[in-house]
Amino acid sequence: MEQYVLAARELGLPEMGFADHLPLFHNDDLTLAMPQSDLPLYIDKVRELQEVHSDYPLRLGIEADYIRAHLDDVAGVLARYEFDYIYGSVHFIGGWGFDQSRFKFEFERRDIDEVYEIYFGLVMEAARTGLFDVMTHLDVVKKYGHRPTKNMKPLYREVAATLAKSDVAIELNASGLSKPVGEIYPSLEILEIMHEYGVPITFGSDAHKPSQVGREFDKLLRLARSAGYSDYVGFAGRQRIPRPLPEPAG
Ligand SMILES: [Zn+2]
Repeated sequence: MEQYVLAARELGLPEMGFADHLPLFHNDDLTLAMPQSDLPLYIDKVRELQEVHSDYPLRLGIEADYIRAHLDDVAGVLARYEFDYIYGSVHFIGGWGFDQSRFKFEFERRDIDEVYEIYFGLVMEAARTGLFDVMTHLDVVKKYGHRPTKNMKPLYREVAATLAKSDVAIELNASGLSKPVGEIYPSLEILEIMHEYGVPITFGSDAHKPSQVGREFDKLLRLARSAGYSDYVGFAGRQRIPRPLPEPAG
C-alpha cells in the first residue's frame, strides 16, 4: 500500500486517499472485495501510513456496494470506522455482476435501455440512503460498450437532481478508457448535466496497482473543464473540501 502513497507523492498530487472495496455481504468472491477479516487490517495499515507520511494529506476511504437487501449490514460496518469519505457504487443488478466480463453475455439477453434504467434507478436509490459521499464510476453500465437506443437525457437529469438533493458528489475516473467502451466515467453528456445541477466532482484513479495512481488525470481535468466545472472537492472527516481545478499539464 505504501507504493500507492509514494506514487501519489511523486506525481505531486495534493492529497490521496485509499478506497478499497468493503467486504461484500451477498457474495464471497475475493477477487471483488476483501474478506471481512481483512477490514480492520486495511484500516490499521492506512492509519500506519498516515503516521509515516504525516506531512502528506492521506485519507481513509472505502468503496461500498449498494445492495438493497444488505443495506443495514453495510451501514453497520461503515458506522464502525471514521472514514474520510465513502464511495458508493453499483456493480450488481439483482444477482447479476454486470461489470464482470464472465457475466457480460447477459447483456445480449436483455433490453439495453431497460438495463440502463434499472442501473441508474439503483444509483438513485443508493444516493438517497445518505450512506455515501460520492457515487463512483457513475455510468459503469457502459463498460462493455452497450449503448442505449433511446435518449437518456431525461433519466440523467433525474439522476443529477437526485444526487444534488441528496448532497452526493460524483467521481471522475479514467479506468473506462482501458475497457471496451474506451471512455472516461462518466461521459461528457452526463457530466454536463451534473454540472447544470450543481453536483460536485472528485477524482479517482480506480488504481489496482501503484502505477495506476493518478492515471490520465490530465484527461479528467480537461473533461471536467469542458463540462463547465472550475472546481472539485476533496474530503476529510466526511466533509467536502472545495478546491479550484488545476490546469491540465499536457
Ligand atoms: Zn467499483
